[in-house]
Amino acid sequence: MTDKTPSTPNDLTFADFGLHPGILSAVTEAGYSKPTPIQAEAIPVVLAGRDVMGAAQTGTGKTAAFSLPILNRLMAHATTSASPARHPVRALVLTPTRELADQVAESIALYSKSVPLRSTVVFGGVDIGPQKEALRRGVEIVIATPGRLLDHIDQRTINLSQVSILVLDEADRMLDMGFLPDLDRIVSLLPKNRQGLLFSATFSKEIRKLARNFLNDPVEIEVAARNATASTVTQVVYPMSADEKRRAVAHLIKTKKLTQTIVFSNTKIGAGQLARYLEREGIKAESIHGNKSQLERMKVLDAFKSGSVDVLVATDVAARGLDVAGMPCVINVDLPYNAEDYVHRIGRTGRAGASGEAIALMAPDEEHLLQEIEKLIGTSVPRLKLDLPAAASSSRSGSNRHERGERRSYQSNTPPVDEFFLKPYEPSTAAAPKPAVTTPSNTTRKRSVGVLLGGGRY
Ligand code: AMP
Repeated sequence: MTDKTPSTPNDLTFADFGLHPGILSAVTEAGYSKPTPIQAEAIPVVLAGRDVMGAAQTGTGKTAAFSLPILNRLMAHATTSASPARHPVRALVLTPTRELADQVAESIALYSKSVPLRSTVVFGGVDIGPQKEALRRGVEIVIATPGRLLDHIDQRTINLSQVSILVLDEADRMLDMGFLPDLDRIVSLLPKNRQGLLFSATFSKEIRKLARNFLNDPVEIEVAARNATASTVTQVVYPMSADEKRRAVAHLIKTKKLTQTIVFSNTKIGAGQLARYLEREGIKAESIHGNKSQLERMKVLDAFKSGSVDVLVATDVAARGLDVAGMPCVINVDLPYNAEDYVHRIGRTGRAGASGEAIALMAPDEEHLLQEIEKLIGTSVPRLKLDLPAAASSSRSGSNRHERGERRSYQSNTPPVDEFFLKPYEPSTAAAPKPAVTTPSNTTRKRSVGVLLGGGRY
C-alpha cells in the first residue's frame, strides 16, 4: 500500500522544489538555507498531490514540510479579490493542542505573507466571535483544534465542502486525547476526493488504522528516526535514591554549567517543586505544565528562549508541541512511564550534526521503566555512579517539607493523569485572543532554541 521514498541529495535547496517565487522568498526571509530531511522528502511528494504518512516530531521542520507545498498547490486558486466567495476553505490542518495550532498558524502566515492566500486559526478557550468574523471574510487555510472546529460546524460558521487538502498533525497525540470521534465527524463532512497528510511521532497500530481510514495510498516518510536515539546523543543513567534526585539535578546543572536545559518530570507537582528548589539553589529555573495558563506558558517559554531562564522543568504534555529542539542537554528526573516518551524527550537534544546529552536519574523502583526503554531503543544505556556532594544539613532543614512532598510525587507508582488531557484549555484572563494572522516578527521570535543558539553552549 505504501512507497518508501529514497534518501535525498545533500546539496538540495528550496529552489529545487520549483516553489512559487513569493513562497520561496518567504522561506529565504525566514532564514532557512537548506531543507530539513522531512522537508526534502515530503515537499516533492505533497507537490505531486500524493497522500503522506510522515513520522516526524516538532523540531524536525515538519510544519514547513507540509505548509510550503500546500501553499504552492493552492496558488492555482490565489486571488486578491475581496469577495468571501472567492476564498473558500481549501486546506484544513487539525492539531491536538492550541499551542500547536497557534505555532502552525504563525508559520503558515509567515510562509504565505507575500502571496494572496489567507489563513486563520480556530481553537477553544477564546472568544469565538473574531474567529467567526475571519471565517466569514473567507480563508483558504484553516488551522484548528477539533473541538472548536466542531463548534463552528454546528453554528454553521464554516463551510468545509471545498476542502481539498486535510492535514492531521501530531495524529498520535490526537488519538491519545480521545479526538477520534471528532475526527471521524469532521472528515465525514469533507469531500471524498482530497489529499491527506498525516504526521505522527510514531507509526503505531492505531495510527496505521487511522491512516487506512483517512488516507489514500500514502507515501510513507520516516525521517532519521528520532525514534532510534540519534548517535549524536550521549545517554547515561545515574541510579540513586529518590531523595537524592533534586540535589543531583542542581549538582549536574552547576558542575556542567548547563544552560538551555529541559528537565522532564512525570508530574506537574514534581515539576513545580523542582523548579522552586532549583531557584533556591541559585539556578534560573521555571516550570511549564498543564496547570499553567496559556499566557504563563508563553511567558516561561519566551524567557527560556531569550536566555533569562536557563532550566525549564516540564511535563511531557506541556513540552509536547512546543517549538524547542536542539537542546545541548535533557535531564530526566523521572523515567517516563511510557517508553516512547523517553524517545520524544531525548529527541529534544542532538539535533542534526550537533551533539547532545541525555541524562536520566533512576530510583530503584524505576528499573523496570529503564528496561522498557532499552527494549524500545534496542540498546542499553550505561549506568554510571554520580558522586554527589554531601547534603547541606541544618541550615536547609527548612526545605524538608518540600523534600517530603517531592518524594511522594517521585515514588508514586501509578501514572498520574495530567489534567491537561481532561480539561479544555482555559486562557488567563489577561490572554487576549490571537489575531487570525500574525506578524512575521512574532514568528521569528518562536524559532527553536537550538536553531537560535546553534547547538551546544557548554
Ligand atoms: P517544526 O518542526 O515545524 O516545529 O519546526 C521547528 C523549527 O525549525 C521552527 O522554528 C522552524 O521555523 C524551523 N525550521 C523549519 N524548517 C527549517 C529549515 N529548513 N531551516 C532552518 N530552520 C527551519
